[in-house]
Order: sequence, then C-alpha cells, then structure tokens
Amino acid sequence: MEDFDFVTRIVLVVDDEPVNRELLVGMLEDGYSVLQADDGNEAMSLIEQYGEDISLVLLDLYMPNFNGYEVLQKLSENDLLKRIPVIVLTSDSDAEVKSLELGAADFISKPYSSVEIVRARVRRIIKMHEDAAALRSMGKDPLTDLYSTGYFFRRVERIEKFASNRAMDAIVLNVDKYHQINSLYGRTRGDAVLKDIADSLRLELESCFGVACREHADNFYAYVEHQDDAAAFLNRVASSVRKREGIKTLRLRMGVYPEVDHTLPIEERFVRAEHACQSICGNYARKFAVYDADMFRKEAFAHKLVDEFEDALTQGQFRVWYQPQHDIRGDTPVRSGAEALVRWIHPDFGMIRPDAFIPLFEENGLIAKLDHFVWRTVALQIRQWKDDFGDTLPVSVNVSRINTLDPRLENDLQDIVRDCGIENNDLVLEVTESAYADSMGQLVETVNDLRRVGFHVEMDDFGSGYSSLSMLTTLPIDALKLDRSLVRGIVEHKKDLYVLKLVLDIAKSLGLPVVAEGVETKAQLDLLKKVGCDRVQGYFFSRPVPADDFVRFLSSR
Ligand code: C2E
Ligand code: CA
Ligand code: CA
Repeated sequence: MEDFDFVTRIVLVVDDEPVNRELLVGMLEDGYSVLQADDGNEAMSLIEQYGEDISLVLLDLYMPNFNGYEVLQKLSENDLLKRIPVIVLTSDSDAEVKSLELGAADFISKPYSSVEIVRARVRRIIKMHEDAAALRSMGKDPLTDLYSTGYFFRRVERIEKFASNRAMDAIVLNVDKYHQINSLYGRTRGDAVLKDIADSLRLELESCFGVACREHADNFYAYVEHQDDAAAFLNRVASSVRKREGIKTLRLRMGVYPEVDHTLPIEERFVRAEHACQSICGNYARKFAVYDADMFRKEAFAHKLVDEFEDALTQGQFRVWYQPQHDIRGDTPVRSGAEALVRWIHPDFGMIRPDAFIPLFEENGLIAKLDHFVWRTVALQIRQWKDDFGDTLPVSVNVSRINTLDPRLENDLQDIVRDCGIENNDLVLEVTESAYADSMGQLVETVNDLRRVGFHVEMDDFGSGYSSLSMLTTLPIDALKLDRSLVRGIVEHKKDLYVLKLVLDIAKSLGLPVVAEGVETKAQLDLLKKVGCDRVQGYFFSRPVPADDFVRFLSSR
C-alpha cells in the first residue's frame, strides 16, 4: 500500500443500474479514482486486473447473471483478494447479515441518505483497512521493540523516496563475543544488553534523522543521517550500555558505510557496512571500521583466489622456487641447502607472492593440499638433481600448522620420499613458531616421531610472534630459523643487535644451530658471522629462483 497522503485511491463501483452508478461516481470522483462495473463478471475481471491497488469495492447485491453474493464468495476464496474491503449496497436489511458473514466490511442502505454519510463511510473503511495492513506489516522485535528487519528495510525505502539526496550512513553494530556474555552472565543479562543497545539507539535517533532495527541476535542495523564522527556515535552507545549493565569488558563493534551511494540497492549498502564490521572481528585494538572500496576489492580478490585454487593446482599454475642457504662458519660461505617457496603463476595476474594466498589457504584448510603438492614437487626435484649432479643439497619445505596436526603427516611424508627415491634427511621440515606456541604437547610428539625416522625439523620464523625463549628448552628441533625482523635492524640499531646476540647465546647454550633469514647486505652478513650465526638465507646471496635457474648453484659446487 502506498503512502496515505500521496496516492489517490481506486474505488470500484459495481451496480447494474446506470443511475445508481452515476450517483455514487458523482459523490466520490473528486477524492478517488472510480472504476465501474455493471455486473459481477466485469467486477471480477477488474478486481483481478487491479488487485490490491483497489482500495474499496462498493457492491450491489442484486444483479442479473453474476450477483453480489457470488462476488463476495469469490473474493473470500482468494487469500490476496479477500483483503480488499467491500461495502455492500442494499435496501434489504436481511441481506446485511448474510453479506457481513461473507466478509463484507460494512453496508450502505439504498437509497443513499446523504453525500456526507456515504463519503464518511467510504473514508472510514479505507482508513481502517489501511491501518490494519500497516499494523500487520509493522513487525516489531518483541525483545527490543525496535523494528523487525523487514519493516526496517521498508522504512529505509520510504526514507529514500522522500529524502533521496540526503547524506545517509548505513551502520552495523554488534556485540563482540556476545555468546560469552550469555554464558558468563546468563541469558537474562544478555537480553538486557540487547535492550540497552536498542534504548541507546532510540536515544540517538531522537537527535538525528534515521531508523534502526535488530537484524538478528546481537546484530543491529541503523540508517541515519551522515555522522561526521562515527566513533563518537559508537562511544555514546557503548558507554551507556556498559554503564547500565556494569559490564566493563563489554565491547561493541561498528561497521559504517558512510554517505551511501543512493543508486545501490538498500541491502547492498548494509552488506558493505557488514564488511567493514567483519574486518575488525577479533581485533581488540579497533572498535569501528569504515567501509572502503579497496577493502572490498581485496576481499573479492581473495574470494577469486580461493575459488580458483583447485583448477590452478591441476593446471600447474603453482610452481616451486628455490632460495639458497649458505653456511658461514668458515672463511668463505659454502652453499648448504635451499628453501622451497611456492609461487602462483596466474594467467590474469601474473606471479602472485605467497603472502597473498597462503594466509587465505591457511584459514580454509586448502594449504594442506598445497603443501603436499610442494613436498612432492621438491622430492621429485631432489631426485632429478641427484641424477644430474650426483650428490645434492637438502631442501627445506614449509609445513603449515594444519599439517602438523594431521596424524597422517609422517606417513604421507614417508610415502613421498619413498615414491621419489630420496632419503628422509634430504627434506628439511620448517615448522612455524606459532604452531609450537599453539599446541605444544602434541607438536612435541609429532616432531619427535618425525626426527626419529630421520627427518630434520627446524623452527621457522622465530622471533616473529609469540615465542618465548624458554620454549626452546622443551623443543626437540634440529635448528632455529630467525625471522627477518630479528635481522633487519642489526646494523643500524644497537638494541636489535643486542637481542640477536641474546637469542644466539641461548641457542648456542642449547646446542642449536641458527639460520638467519632476510640477509640483504654484506654488513648484515659480517655481523651475523661475528656473533656466531651458522647459516644465512637472503637476497644478498640470491632471491628465490625457479628450479632451472637454481641449477647454477648446484653445477658450480
Ligand atoms: P618464510 O617461510 O619465512 O619464507 C621466507 C620469505 O622471506 C620468502 O618470502 C622469501 O622470499 C623472503 N626472503 C628471503 N630472503 C629475503 C630477503 O633478503 N629480504 C626480504 N625482504 N625477504 C626475503 P615468500 O617466498 O614471499 O614467502 C612468504 C611466506 O609464505 C613464507 O615465509 C612462508 O611462510 C609462506 N610460504 C611460502 N611457500 C610456502 C609453502 O610451500 N607452504 C607453506 N605452508 N607456506 C609457504
Ligand atoms: Ca620458511
Ligand atoms: Ca621464515
């Protein structure tokens, strides 16, 4: 139903007597669009044509062929059409009861007493009917008394109609770890939090133009006039909720799509606000985020990569590159091994660095498959180099966390080694530091098993995250690989050098060889050598290169 003040309503007058029709048309035509039918048949075809656009039917009961009762009967059988109110026109008072039973909304007796009475009845029935329809659709959320989502979107549409040039923000608000509040403080308290949020939003809406709803659970939508300071909006809501509930740790998160593009579908505007909101999910430092197109593009790109993974793998788009490692203990550096690093040669985007896809694949588990592919490729390559050059260098491969938790890991690795005809100690396994930090117990066992059958295991990225030096004492590893961040500043900053020395001292006291990554300059190399680092890897010697290029390191050995 369109807005009350802006649409002229259609009234259908059904009567076989032309005089009666003209009388009614005369009474109504300056407030309504009037349609006419001279029997039930014609009435039904007009009703079917206009449907609920007809606001009211004025229906004579006695007509030849298809009479008014039959029309009422037909309408009552149709779920949509029975919503159209009908006023019965009759001079027979007995007919009133019967027609009311058949669903008529009211009746007007013939002959028509006065224009005013007829108009008043017509207006009253239409109004009553429209109010009922509005109430029906006016779903309110029983808990918070905010609009239901469906009605909220209709309100936004309405706003768009009358304020299409206004600068508006689409806002998504939700409670961080809401389930924890429920489980720590109980459901009643959880509900109270939601009610408080609704109250705070209502308070905001008193001073700024807009609407709000509870979209579901602890997720709220608001469509409000543009806020210059969205963070302040969030702070007002959050601090009032915290105060009222006395839960200091309560955090609200907000995503804003500011100054919406009015040509976008309304739902899409909230998808963008949701995106912004999700981008800070689990990020304690940030409570609110603004949608930006760049972020959206990045996510679309990420989706594309994940979608294409399987095909890319079967089509050979993943390649393994190799970066040499050098032993620097002696007078001149000696090539001692290599690290295998995966590359994606994409038909549209060219070479994609692993930092762009490994984190994605770690999230959804695809990395397990990719790692297996890399291991097998490397094992075959080692076999090839053995055939071509006799002896060869050990090659390190990355073992992602998800694989370290896989009970078949040892078997799978043994199978690969056997299939390709190499030795277990030709493959060095790099396990990232965070894998140790996460599930120490199980990992220690896995690593022990792997080493028992002859694999070398090194801890990767040491110093990049949650490591503790004490962790080293409990770990059964063959070497420690320092993260680039530990090497980067050692020439310029005394403090960095100091930290490096400390780590090396401890590693030495535990008898652990140390490999430094990201060595880019001669100065870094010299310092590393001086403080007792065993091996290095980095651009100073070579960037990672395709297998064919790596051959030069082997043939000149
Ligand atoms: P990572 O295991 O720490 O690998 C070393 C990274 O440092 C490589 O980046 C390498 O190109 C880069 N690097 C080497 N020397 C230098 C240097 O002197 N300066 C600088 N700035 N960087 C240097 P890459 O190849 O982009 O790989 C990034 C990360 O992606 C790797 O870090 C590793 O975590 C992951 N990754 C790569 N290949 C695989 C794989 O096959 N499986 C798994 N699970 N992860 C992989
Ligand atoms: Ca590595
Ligand atoms: Ca590393």
